[in-house]
Amino acid sequence: MSLLRSCKFLASTSSFLSSTRNFSKSSFRQKALQNWKRPSIDELGVPKDAWRHVYDRNQSKFNTQLLIGTVVFGVSFSAYVYVLDPGMIIDPRTVKYSTILPIIKKPDEEALQILSVESEASVLEEEDKVALGTSELEVVEELEVVAAVASSDLVVEAVPAESSPSEDKAVSSEAESVPEPSKETNAKIAPLAPLPEEIPYLLIGAGTASFAAFRAIKARDPTAKILIIGDEERLPYMRPPLSKELWFISDETAKRELKFKQWNGKERSLYYEPQAFYTPVDKLEEQKNGGISVATGRRVVRLDTEKQVAYLSDGAEIKYGKCLLATGGSPKTLPVLSNLPAAVEEKVTRFRKVEDFHNLDKVLQSSKSVTIFGGGFLGSELACALGQRSKLGLLEVNQAYQEAGNMAKVLPEYLSEWTTEKVKSEGVNVLPNSRIKGVKMTEGGRLEVELSGSKLETDHVVVAAGVEIDQALAAASGIQVDRSNGGYLVNDQFECSSNLWVAGDAAAFLDPQLGRRRVEHHDHAVVSGRLAGENMTGAAKSYTHQSMFWSDLGPEVGYEAIGIVDSKLPTVGVFAKATETDTPKAAVTKSNEADRSISEQMAETKVVETAAGKVEEGGDEYGKGVIFYLKENKIVGVLLWNVFNRMNIARRVLKEGRSYDDLTEVAKLFNIHAPE
Ligand SMILES: Cc1cc2nc3c(=O)[nH]c(=O)nc-3n(C[C@H](O)[C@H](O)[C@H](O)COP(=O)(O)OP(=O)(O)OC[C@H]3O[C@@H](n4cnc5c(N)ncnc54)[C@H](O)[C@@H]3O)c2cc1C
Repeated sequence: MSLLRSCKFLASTSSFLSSTRNFSKSSFRQKALQNWKRPSIDELGVPKDAWRHVYDRNQSKFNTQLLIGTVVFGVSFSAYVYVLDPGMIIDPRTVKYSTILPIIKKPDEEALQILSVESEASVLEEEDKVALGTSELEVVEELEVVAAVASSDLVVEAVPAESSPSEDKAVSSEAESVPEPSKETNAKIAPLAPLPEEIPYLLIGAGTASFAAFRAIKARDPTAKILIIGDEERLPYMRPPLSKELWFISDETAKRELKFKQWNGKERSLYYEPQAFYTPVDKLEEQKNGGISVATGRRVVRLDTEKQVAYLSDGAEIKYGKCLLATGGSPKTLPVLSNLPAAVEEKVTRFRKVEDFHNLDKVLQSSKSVTIFGGGFLGSELACALGQRSKLGLLEVNQAYQEAGNMAKVLPEYLSEWTTEKVKSEGVNVLPNSRIKGVKMTEGGRLEVELSGSKLETDHVVVAAGVEIDQALAAASGIQVDRSNGGYLVNDQFECSSNLWVAGDAAAFLDPQLGRRRVEHHDHAVVSGRLAGENMTGAAKSYTHQSMFWSDLGPEVGYEAIGIVDSKLPTVGVFAKATETDTPKAAVTKSNEADRSISEQMAETKVVETAAGKVEEGGDEYGKGVIFYLKENKIVGVLLWNVFNRMNIARRVLKEGRSYDDLTEVAKLFNIHAPE
């Protein structure tokens, strides 16, 4: 009954509206209006009813019309929202007429995912604005104070923050999104799903740079369809814990599922996102709101950059709109270790992936001795991590390398010596100045390793000698390679050629401050992946934000660095005595993040000027300190030794690129005399 009444009401309303329209258009009325004269007061009609009554009646008529108008508008708007693709509400430019759906539609998981990415990003953008608006300026102020104190020629302008809020957004959102360990974290997924023939965004390599890139793409283009192709049979994961925290786990299930405890004891997953986060590859094309899929166990062998087609080793072809090469690198093998007999090869691990971790862990359970080749950060971290088994008398751990001390390519000689002693104290038999000459099988089935000057028997060999970039892919695809560092040549926007970008370990990029470089570090993969992702959506941003890197020799000793840290350069180090709060463990406890590129984002950047304390240069105690690397007397690199969460200051000092009369005064900015 009430429905009937409503219909009648609507009909009368519409006839009212149409009569109004006819009135204004009728020629008869037009004529009448032209001849119309303003009536005098006496000629005006007098209502029969009381004025008040007439007024109330008119008011109620107008209110009814207003109500009807509002209802009609509301109904039309709701129909507009539900009938058309909800994606257009996020970005009206994406409306496609082919996406008209049945009127009542429950938002699907995909849409919810996009909305959550969006809102997360916008909230973080606000947070970034606040952070950048205050903290960076505080650093600038502190620099100015030091300039005055030191009477040096340090002048710091209140320049805008290096990283724009949107540039930081992806990493910050990454920080938010790194999942709590879930049952799904052992995220192997079935390979060889049918691939789409064409995809707007193709990311090659399922590693850290791709992960950062897809977050950036999604933040700027919420309905993007992104396909990641990775030759490992795993979803994107972070590598740093493979040589650190994962070795400190005793729970076999957690190990298998790649759950690890941060130095502060908090449990995390190695995977960036669980499987449920991703859209199955065969469903990606039909997702009107876009999505991210990972095709695992598939390898791209060639790109036709003109036709924008990627060719896979299994014969599949994919046409792409924009493509990112984030293929990282493969572990270098030493010449004497190439072409080994199969039986020897079986006992050699070139350490890079999850499988290497699992295999090595398994092998070492029945081994008496392991020998690590490589004195860099990976070799030294692994040596320290395995040293705990040596301390328990379970395993002999040798570390051999040709340099004079641990991390000698990075640390100044005195600090490298100190570190070598530290690694020894972790139960490692360190063999510096040892060039490997050959490995062969003994009659007893062990390995005999011949080093320059000595021989040793061991059960297993681990090679940690850096990575090399896939030259075959570059040659097959006509991609230019930088001869000096082997990376794929890109400009300052990480663009390699039209519609093709490169990020992470594989990129030989143009650093406006430090020249052409290639960097094999986690934070660089995040920073460059994010920038490339933004540029793939048209941001046209240049690289300005210097990435950092970190290395931990177990929970007690660690460093963070930025810029060019090359021990061949002159250095100035300023040290203070460390306390028990100056450790990676304490730093992680404070920030609650194992991934330092995230904790860097969260770090307190307020700098308090140190009162004139005792500053030691050199000396025997290198508990904590700051080391400046100089080129033509200007700072080109900063290494923070057991000093954490001060990377913003180092970045600022590096950006200045100035020479200083007294670096101990600049060191005070890092507040190394105060506990963490
Ligand atoms: C054990 C370990 C510990 C580390 N610890 C630290 C640390 O403490 N601090 C630090 O700063 N850095 C550390 N790093 C370095 C850091 O992890 C790397 O710099 C980072 O992972 C590089 O990211 P990426 O995305 O460029 O490459 P990757 O993470 O290597 O990802 C590339 C992916 O692409 C795949 N791929 C390659 N070619 C193809 C192809 N043609 N088709 C399909 N897929 C392909 C690879 O298999 C790989 O899965 C560590 C590295 C390792 C191995």
